[in-house]
Amino acid sequence: MILSDNEIDEKKVLTQPLDVKAFNHAGIEADLLRLDLIHPVISGNKWFKLKYYLTDAVNNNAKHITTAGGAYSNHIVASAYACKLYGLACTGIIRGEKPTALSPTLIAAEKYGMQLQFISREKYSLKEYPEIEGSYFIEEGGYGQPGAKGAGEITALTKSFASYSHIICAVGTGTMLAGIIMKTDQSQQTEGISVMKNNFGLEEKVRNLLPEEYSSKKIIIHHDYHFGGYAKHPPELVSYMNQFYIETGIPTDVIYTSKMIYAVNDLAKRGYYPKGSRLLLIHSGGLQGNLSLPAGSLSF
Ligand SMILES: *Cc1c(COP(=O)(O)O)cnc(C)c1O
Repeated sequence: MILSDNEIDEKKVLTQPLDVKAFNHAGIEADLLRLDLIHPVISGNKWFKLKYYLTDAVNNNAKHITTAGGAYSNHIVASAYACKLYGLACTGIIRGEKPTALSPTLIAAEKYGMQLQFISREKYSLKEYPEIEGSYFIEEGGYGQPGAKGAGEITALTKSFASYSHIICAVGTGTMLAGIIMKTDQSQQTEGISVMKNNFGLEEKVRNLLPEEYSSKKIIIHHDYHFGGYAKHPPELVSYMNQFYIETGIPTDVIYTSKMIYAVNDLAKRGYYPKGSRLLLIHSGGLQGNLSLPAGSLSF
């Protein structure tokens, strides 16, 4: 197996205390798990979400993978790279007509050997994907139980996982949130920050990934920190990313982690977290998505 845990440079994985004013004022401690540092291409949670799919594909003698995503999808580029490592051919079904200039994400995916098939937004939203015979299909964003199982293993990268009262991550499909929920005990609260607008079906999508024995677990998702919707980034968000970088030296991505950290900051200011709380924030990577911003927007 190629996409194994020991390919991750664990020395690089840092759980790092966040010295942020809002947290100090609120009397809480917050650590950040830097999954952005584990791999230059398959960064963050994508590594973990993919591994059980690819293992399953190889075990079933699949030679080809198909998956789907948008032009800036971290999942697309991570899948392309992971398939290359596994020696699997792969096709990415991309939302929207082929543009005259490919996004940096798609250029990279093609470089790693992914074949791109563009389909209209209408077809994409109806999941009318072209059939590729004999291909192993991975849902958009790696949504599914194998993805959640892999994502749960993120928690093993921090030595004192049991010591945190709250674990907080960004939410796209909810796969990572489900994986983390499965690793927490009754005293720990897991919270997701949705990066999409009014995506109120998420709680149920997360619930559907949890086996029966987790049915007593609460699913907490904050829906007010989408900044206008998926991939929307008003100047206020970009300036927060720059400010957070100046305060901590940590880069965030414009689609997920910046909205998550902003949300926790805001919730802390509002007194949402009881004094003495110990928060673990998951930096789930995704920095390549910042290439979608105009040059010069970010100070890092
Ligand atoms: C894909 C992604 C997420 C969302 O993960 P889900 O399991 O789909 O909820 C969060 N952060 C980053 C950086 C991502 O690339």
